[in-house]
Amino acid sequence: MALYVHKYGGTSVGSAERIQHVADNVIQARQRGEDIVVVVSAMSGETNRLVTLAREIQPAPDPREMDVLLATGEQVTIALLAMALQQRGCQATSYTGGQVAIVTDKVHTKARILDIDTQRIRADLATGRVVVVAGFQGVSESGDITTLGRGGSDTTAVALAAALRADECLIYTDVDGVYTTDPRVEPKARRLERITFEEMLEMASLGSKVLQIRSVEFAGKYNVPLRVLSSFQEGAGTLISYEDDSMEKPLISGIAFNRDEAKLTMLGVPDRPGIASRILGPVAAANIEVDMIVQNVSEDGTTNFTFTVNRGDYARALSILGTISAELGAREVLGDDSIVKVSIVGVGMRSHAGIAAKMFDTLAAEGINIQMISTSEIKISVVLNEKYLELAVRSLHEAFELDKAAVSG
Ligand code: ASP
Ligand code: MG
Repeated sequence: MALYVHKYGGTSVGSAERIQHVADNVIQARQRGEDIVVVVSAMSGETNRLVTLAREIQPAPDPREMDVLLATGEQVTIALLAMALQQRGCQATSYTGGQVAIVTDKVHTKARILDIDTQRIRADLATGRVVVVAGFQGVSESGDITTLGRGGSDTTAVALAAALRADECLIYTDVDGVYTTDPRVEPKARRLERITFEEMLEMASLGSKVLQIRSVEFAGKYNVPLRVLSSFQEGAGTLISYEDDSMEKPLISGIAFNRDEAKLTMLGVPDRPGIASRILGPVAAANIEVDMIVQNVSEDGTTNFTFTVNRGDYARALSILGTISAELGAREVLGDDSIVKVSIVGVGMRSHAGIAAKMFDTLAAEGINIQMISTSEIKISVVLNEKYLELAVRSLHEAFELDKAAVSG
């Protein structure tokens, strides 16, 4: 029998009414003859409420106790959903992460799953029951409750689907799929029918926050087909899987962007071995994540060194750079926290030349100055002044014809 894991996010279980709707959806799947394991999040807003509450009591809450607290959100929704299913004559049992032995390491508030014992779930499925599992939580080897980091229910669902060798993991949410870009920036953005794991990782890490990134990595690693779809409206959503020959292969699948960027430059650094590590070492030591890095060719024995960080880390990075710059005898440190990153993403570009040229032509035609460029096999990113974000996204969307459905072949 086909086995599916359904995951319903916070808005999909945000009220008694919404939970009833989820129960109806699960029962429809049962009527098609599918075995179903359901993973739910806490009701929308609940995890935030608990975090706020904790901080009112203890400014830096004890991580172990934080997990005991946060895990309650999902415990509410699993019980309510099991009740809603039973009320409809469908046999259902709810389980916390610990009860179905979702074993994690003991890094409280951002634990990683080590192992899942599927015995109990399989036994229930064999008797025709729907199994409802709390997302986002597990248990450490010493028996303490752990949580998997914000958005972690996606990862629970994928991990369960992998452990159970489910046919597909369906992520029900409040959007009807993954789009070619953010529809709030480009209303002509189109839902993608399929996208690869690699593309999704690029889209997710660049700001299309539909899925917890870790869940996509997990799904790719264990080859679990993932489908993102709406619990509010009918539709096939977007399937995230490996590339196969039947797949439509547009050059570009989507345009991702990140407004949360800042740029730092050290001018006139002596060009010697060890400079990059001398500059970036202290930045990494301060736990600041560095994204793009560019070092210019050297002129008169000195060079310019530029990198980008999250805007939230800008002030700290600037002050660290000030100190290093004095030590190294660099000429000047410059910073700019009004930049954005725009990226075109697509596995199709692997086998096509000229994609970068087309991107740069398009931006040039709009008079948009490119400040930095970086490329990978399936992505080209540019850094721009933030005032150009909308224009850049829309003109690229048009140039690569993303508003037109790709011809499947
Ligand atoms: N309830 C948790 C959160 O809000 C986990 C999840 O919803 O995926 O982050
Ligand atoms: Mg979520």
